[in-house]
Amino acid sequence: MSVKRGRIFLQTPGPTNIPERVLNAMHRSAVEFAGPEFGAFARKLLIDIKPLFRTEGTVFIYAANGHGAWDAALSNILSPGDKVLAPETGRFALSWADQARNLGIETEIVPNDWRRAIVPADLEARLRADPEHAIKAVLLVHTDTATGITCDIPAVRRAIDAAGHPALLVVDTIASLLTTEFEMDAWGVDVAVAACQKGLMMPPGLSFVAANDKAFAAHRDSTLPRGYWDWTDRLQDVGYKWFCGTAPEHLLFGLREAIDMINEEGFDAIFARHARLAAAVRAAIGVWSQAGALELAAREQSEQANSVSTILVDPAYDPVEIRTICRDRFDLALGNGLGQFEKNSFRIGHMGDLNAPMILGALAAVEAGLVVCGVPHGQGGVNAAIDVLAAD
Ligand SMILES: *Cc1c(COP(=O)(O)O)cnc(C)c1O
Repeated sequence: MSVKRGRIFLQTPGPTNIPERVLNAMHRSAVEFAGPEFGAFARKLLIDIKPLFRTEGTVFIYAANGHGAWDAALSNILSPGDKVLAPETGRFALSWADQARNLGIETEIVPNDWRRAIVPADLEARLRADPEHAIKAVLLVHTDTATGITCDIPAVRRAIDAAGHPALLVVDTIASLLTTEFEMDAWGVDVAVAACQKGLMMPPGLSFVAANDKAFAAHRDSTLPRGYWDWTDRLQDVGYKWFCGTAPEHLLFGLREAIDMINEEGFDAIFARHARLAAAVRAAIGVWSQAGALELAAREQSEQANSVSTILVDPAYDPVEIRTICRDRFDLALGNGLGQFEKNSFRIGHMGDLNAPMILGALAAVEAGLVVCGVPHGQGGVNAAIDVLAAD
């Protein structure tokens, strides 16, 4: 293998690029985690994380990845044999549902085409057919990272309300938080799940569950075993309970810096930056698609994600080869296909600490990969991306 120089481009939809400020904030000695200084630091962090979710509720920080936060959310609000609905946004909805099943939850998928956002009316119809209210929660993935599609959470809330159903709305924001608007309280989301290595620009290792009063009411009645994840245990006013043991100090130092950076940039600017970069990526994909071998998975413009784009590849060509060439020859890491798109897609992540030259470099490297692999593609994808970025 040849020696690599320069920056390796990381365009996977998690983990994402980590700013040097975050890395530097972590480069320090360990501290006494039960001491007053760290206690004050952690207490403030647990408050300052709330605005990221736009909630007045409680946010729990776990030393775990997103899959851990999935378990944390479910085990704190459900009881054995409870039923949940999972609208089929893509592979992540199915995986979360599998995890719920493994916890002893009865799980029903509301089927959907992976090229379009879920249909709130389908959910409403299913909830109307449950007059006994056997369904305790709706598990919704905001942006499914397999499809690159973002669903309309307020429309889902309206559907649940229209059905007059008390099910909790539990939302996975792992691939959407800090890349696109999310309003936990205003949108009537009861539980929100997130992880730190995507829009939050952190190394993997922390995840979050935000809960409102309705979620806490369900928590008090729920009986699933929850050990490490238990909200009640973590709410005790004893520093070492907040993280159920040794605090993941360095990740928390990094998180502090990431939150400060997010607040400096401002939410609206962050969403606008992601929207512009996503539009540039889609402009390139649109041009490449003109030769008929490639296509954006997300059919409907208003549903296309700010954070990740899934590119479907004609069966005559191998997306794994495209990714391999991009990695080996052009120092660019791309996302693999997932679920029903496993064999016929690759993904470009475009979230987190990212700017125009990074995205242009990545798109140029993808184009070079298409050339090497002999994948027919329209000429001028990168130029189309430049036009988008130069337009405002
Ligand atoms: C990445 C991701 C997950 C899984 O997170 P891990 O940290 O890999 O466990 C879950 N849901 C969505 C939408 C994701 O993008």
